[in-house]
Amino acid sequence: MATQIQAIRGMNDILPSQSPLWQYVEHHIHEVLSAYGYSELRTPLVESTDLFKRSIGEVTDIVEKEMYTFADRNDESITLRPEGTAGAVRAALQQGLLHNQVQRLWYMGPMFRYERPQKGRYRQFHQLGLECFGMAGPDIDAEVIILTARLWRRLGIDKAVSLQLNSLGTPESRKAHREALIAYLEKHQDKLDADSQKRLYSNPLRVLDSKNPETQAILTDAPMLLDYLDDESKQHFEQLKALLSAAGIEFEVNPKLVRGLDYYSKTVFEWVTDELGAQGTVCGGGRYDGLVEQLGGKPTPAVGFGMGIERLILLLETLKVVPETVYNHVDVYLVAAGENITAYAFQVAETIRNNVPGIRLQMNCGGGSFKSQMKKADKSGAHIAIIIGENELQEGTVAIKPLRGEGAQQVMSLPEATAWVAEQSFAE
Ligand code: ATP
Ligand code: MG
Repeated sequence: MATQIQAIRGMNDILPSQSPLWQYVEHHIHEVLSAYGYSELRTPLVESTDLFKRSIGEVTDIVEKEMYTFADRNDESITLRPEGTAGAVRAALQQGLLHNQVQRLWYMGPMFRYERPQKGRYRQFHQLGLECFGMAGPDIDAEVIILTARLWRRLGIDKAVSLQLNSLGTPESRKAHREALIAYLEKHQDKLDADSQKRLYSNPLRVLDSKNPETQAILTDAPMLLDYLDDESKQHFEQLKALLSAAGIEFEVNPKLVRGLDYYSKTVFEWVTDELGAQGTVCGGGRYDGLVEQLGGKPTPAVGFGMGIERLILLLETLKVVPETVYNHVDVYLVAAGENITAYAFQVAETIRNNVPGIRLQMNCGGGSFKSQMKKADKSGAHIAIIIGENELQEGTVAIKPLRGEGAQQVMSLPEATAWVAEQSFAE
């Protein structure tokens, strides 16, 4: 036999047994987004490499070591998107979505990063992204956070996630902090991890983001950006905190929170959980007022977040908060055993589908004895079997058999059976 080809390391198949959970999560995400009036933006999975270099920043984990970058057949350098903000800004600018208007946009789909695969960290993973343009105040920062909190409640995980908040101020306020931070880090230079030593002068703020415990210990007494904030950023931050408190959203100010991309300003936040080990950040985002201009547009305030869908799903599974019914995908199984029965079986199946909107009816295909079809009916998870044999064919009737719990088999005309199915709770 020929050797089998395997999937690319760190890139997962989402199997039929798992996709109901994905659809369940996506369904709730869609409903929450629609409740706030957000619109979907779909952008290509690949963009010019320069777009990511210019937006994310050269001295970041993503650009330095995580991008899937290729030369295409025309020798242009293209990159599989490692995140969605850059592409969203590129599209918004290119398509004129930012002329004198505000936008509340979202997207969901795969992102690609060449990382070491482990639980909650993959090379192809999925994000929900939100990007809001044209609103400078803390109200929209609060809205995107309040929106995520609603999603946590709907999914039943609100007790397991907590909100961390910080402000990075403006680029000007970061300059003063940067000098103080470099001066502090120089004193501990030899004890910093390799990446942090390398970034000490090129991007010292990134050092705060280090996951190395020794580096983190050194940072305890490092100068904090919060102490260097300009008045406007300070006021923005205070107002945001007040809005969140008034909305009943708890948070913790974490002065070391900086996020892994260069484009943030003012508000940054993360929703974190203790349930997923090292991969505890489920959602991260903030304000990026400089990015649109940096990519060639007019100065445009913006705020957004990225949410890791795999981590969200792992959390739902860990907390066991997924309703069992999510995995059912068949309400009615149609058993058809006998000679020349198939055309009548289709007639029954289509009549019920026509008259019972939303019904999930699976018809037996591939033949088989009555007994083996009943086994399939049971395995399908259906609540009832509709059974037709030669008698039913001749009389134009069907037999209905409840598969879970009580209830005897009944024979009915097709219109009666259709009405009976429509009355069942699963047909709502
Ligand atoms: P981390 O610190 O865990 O590497 P990050 O800061 O690189 O995360 P972002 O770029 O902010 O992550 O992406 C937003 C979210 O996307 C993360 O909070 C996480 O939930 C998810 N995410 C990021 N990278 C991965 C990955 N390789 N596999 C799965 N999910 C990921
Ligand atoms: Mg990362």
